[in-house]
Amino acid sequence: MSETTVVILLGRPGSGKGTQGELLREQLGYAHISTGEILRSAIREHTELGLKAQGFVEAGSLVPDALILSLISERMHQLVGRIPGIIFDGFPRTLPQAVAFQEVILKFGIRQLVVIELRLPHQVASERIQYREASNVGQLRLDDRDEVVVARMAVFERETQPVIDHYERLGVLVSLEGAGSREEVFGRVKLAVGAQDHQCLAKP
Ligand code: ADP
Repeated sequence: MSETTVVILLGRPGSGKGTQGELLREQLGYAHISTGEILRSAIREHTELGLKAQGFVEAGSLVPDALILSLISERMHQLVGRIPGIIFDGFPRTLPQAVAFQEVILKFGIRQLVVIELRLPHQVASERIQYREASNVGQLRLDDRDEVVVARMAVFERETQPVIDHYERLGVLVSLEGAGSREEVFGRVKLAVGAQDHQCLAKP
């Protein structure tokens, strides 16, 4: 059994998963694992993972599950038992990833699992990304171009909304309002993470 808590942040692109994940890392000392960040840095550094992922990321489509799952297992090996918690931002993103992650959670003896959905309407999320794009000239995310954002939003509806529905059916989803300032949203997230008695998927 491990005392490491696992937090999963779910929500459409632009819903604030990255921002809230960073705040949790800073304030609780959790590790923040953003699969998108890992892939973008692998692409920048031309690693083997980067070469495999590049075409998918730049098109706004999903990288194959197997690639993501091996990356996640590797990080879990490095981190479980060594830190109080791990935040997953951008994972699991498909139902097969969620099902496979269930096995990983069992294997590592994780007892505390918090699954948080950040709810934000499509339009507001798109505006946030446009704002990020406009204010980050020079270090533009390749996948923040308008047409790629449209593709990412569609992938979210098709592949990731079913993951949210899955956790809701299991009764472990905490659904939070994602609108408001980063501090306001963080107040809600902190409450959810600090809440006692998290249900755990490790139970049969
Ligand atoms: P966002 O949630 O804002 O779209 P991310 O930074 O989480 O952005 O992801 C960026 C891109 O990285 C995705 O569009 C996809 O190509 C790839 N990616 C990230 N996480 C996963 C994952 N779990 N499975 C497959 N592809 C992923």
